[in-house]
Amino acid sequence: MRDTNFFAENNAKPIWHPMAHPAEMRASPPRVIMKGEGAHVTDIEGRTVLDAVGGLWNVNLGYSCDPIKQAIAAQLDTLPYYSGFRGTSTGPSIELAYELSQWFAPEGMVRTFFTSGGSDSVETALRLARQYWKIRGQADRTKFLALKKGYHGTHFGGASVNGNANFRRNYEPLLPGCFHTPAPWTYRNPFDETDPAKLAGLCARAIEEEIAFQGADTIAAFIMEPVLGAGGVIVPPETFMPLVREICDRHDILLIADEVVTAFGRTGAWSGSRLWNVKPDFMTIAKAITCGYFPLGATLIGEKVADVFEADKTSFGAIGHGYTYSGHPVGCAAGLAALAETKRLGVNENAAARGIELGQALEALKTKHALVGDVRNRGLMAALELVSDRGSKKAADKKTMAKVADAAYDAGVMLRVSGNMIILSPPLIITAADVAKIAEGLDAGLTAAAA
Ligand code: PMP
Repeated sequence: MRDTNFFAENNAKPIWHPMAHPAEMRASPPRVIMKGEGAHVTDIEGRTVLDAVGGLWNVNLGYSCDPIKQAIAAQLDTLPYYSGFRGTSTGPSIELAYELSQWFAPEGMVRTFFTSGGSDSVETALRLARQYWKIRGQADRTKFLALKKGYHGTHFGGASVNGNANFRRNYEPLLPGCFHTPAPWTYRNPFDETDPAKLAGLCARAIEEEIAFQGADTIAAFIMEPVLGAGGVIVPPETFMPLVREICDRHDILLIADEVVTAFGRTGAWSGSRLWNVKPDFMTIAKAITCGYFPLGATLIGEKVADVFEADKTSFGAIGHGYTYSGHPVGCAAGLAALAETKRLGVNENAAARGIELGQALEALKTKHALVGDVRNRGLMAALELVSDRGSKKAADKKTMAKVADAAYDAGVMLRVSGNMIILSPPLIITAADVAKIAEGLDAGLTAAAA
C-alpha cells in the first residue's frame, strides 16, 4: 500500500464521491480514515475520534468485532465466491437465510432473497411486488405509494419512491406510477399539526385519498421506513405504521418495510416492524447485516407473497431478477457472525438504554442552543435540526453546519451533516460515557457555530 503522503496528495482527485459535488470535494477534500477500533476511528493525521455516525448507520458492533473478521478470513480461505444463480448455492447463504427466518424475522418473513446492499434490496422488493400481482392475474397493479421525506436508495426504482427532491430532480424522468403522501412529521407538516396522534390520522387519511384517486386496483405496494432515517430521523407516532398496515390490508396493497437502517436493533427493537408491531409483506435489510464488514443486503419475503410464488402455475412465477453477488458466501459468512454477535450481546437493549440517555442529552442541548430547532431520536438513531431562526424554522446554512461538524471533530466526535440536520447513528455498543462524549462534541460544535 502507498504511504499517507500519496493518499493526502490524491485525496478526491481520482474519485468522485457519492452524494457530493466533485468540484467541492476537490476544493475541500474529505477526511481520510485509516483505522477503526471499538467505536473510534483514526484519520490520516493520527486524530482519533468517537464515531457518532457508525460508518453509515451500519457499524453496529464497532470496528473490532473479531468473530466477523475471523469468519470472513475463514470463508475466503475455503471458498471466496460461488454464484447462487439457479444451478448452484453455497453453505453460508443457506445457513444465513435459515438463521434470519428462525431468529431475526419470525414475524411471517419466511424467505430471503440476497442482494449486494440496500438499494438492491429495495429494487428487489419493488420488482417482486409487481411480479406478485402478475401471478395473481392483476397486471394493472403496478404503482407504488411512498412517504415524502422517505429514503429508499438510489437505483431508479428506489429513487422514484424516494420522497426527497434532492435525490430526484437531476435524474428525472423517474419510474412512472410512483406517488407520495405527507410524512407524519410533527415539526414540519402541511397540516401544521403538532399532536402526534392527530397527525398520524391526517397522514393516514392522505394515503386513503391517494388510493381512492389512483384506484386501489392499480397499486402494487406501499413502501416506508418504520423510522425515516436519511430524511432526518422522523419518528412516526406509534399509531401510524399500524394504520398504514390496516389501510393496505383493506385495499389489498402490499406493504414493504424498508429496514435498511432500522433492522438489527438500532431503534431499540430488533426491527422497526417489531417496534410498531406490524407484519410487512417484504422487509428490506442491508447495512448492519454484516455491520459494514462486507457489502450484503437481503429482501425478506412474507408468507402471503411466498405462498403465491411457490404455488404459481402461470408463466409469471420464475424470478427474472438477481445479482452476481446475491448470496455471496463471504458476505453471508460475515452476516452469520454479525448476527450471532448481535444476538449474543443483545445490542438492541443497549441501543434502547443509551438512546434514552442520548435523547435527554439532545433535549438539554436544545434548551441551551438557539440554533437547535428540533431534536428527534429513537434508540440510537437521532437528528438535530438546526435553524437560523426558531420562529420561522429557517434552515441553518451550509457554513454553519460545517462549523458545527468541524468543531465537534476537534472535540473528538465525528458527526454527519445532511442539509440542515446533524445525523447520529453511533455503534450500538457505545457506553453511557460515550453518549456523554457525543453530547460534549455537539455542545462544542454548536457553541463554535453560534460564535
Ligand atoms: N433504504 C434505506 C432506508 C436507506 O437508509 C438506504 C441507505 N442509507 C438505502 C435504502 C440504500 O442502501 P445502500 O446505500 O446500501 O444501497
